[in-house]
Amino acid sequence: MPSIFSKIIAGQIPGQFVFRDELWVAILDIRPVAPGHALLIPLAEAQHLAELPAPTLAALGDRLARLTAAVKAATGAPAVNVVVNDGPAAGQEVPHAHVHVIPRFADDGRRLAWTATPYADGELAAWATKVRAAWR
Ligand code: 5GP
Repeated sequence: MPSIFSKIIAGQIPGQFVFRDELWVAILDIRPVAPGHALLIPLAEAQHLAELPAPTLAALGDRLARLTAAVKAATGAPAVNVVVNDGPAAGQEVPHAHVHVIPRFADDGRRLAWTATPYADGELAAWATKVRAAWR
């Protein structure tokens, strides 16, 4: 069954489009963290970013840079949060990979949930070794 984003891309349900091309679209999020909060969505449907076709992934940087510039210019925000909830355990609600671009102002009172926890002695290097070993 197509995702809600595929239905928006197909025109079956409404969406406010910022742009669309052969690989990616951007729409405004219907429940924004702040006005102008946009979603960059691939036409290809996959739950995780890493599962997208190579040409789609290759174009991501360009589209993200341009969408970030558009959101900042339109809102006047000096900064954005770029967020990917890549899987349900990370808070992903819509199982169709997408990137949030959220305009941010100093002292705007918005918070993204983030709990920083320091490593114990030696753990940082041990985790770096594990992640390096998994790099492909
Ligand atoms: P996730 O938690 O999956 O990273 O984020 C999904 C986002 O999609 C949420 O911020 C939610 O507000 C947005 N969203 C869900 N349904 C719709 C919809 O029908 N239209 C639009 N424009 N955004 C939606």
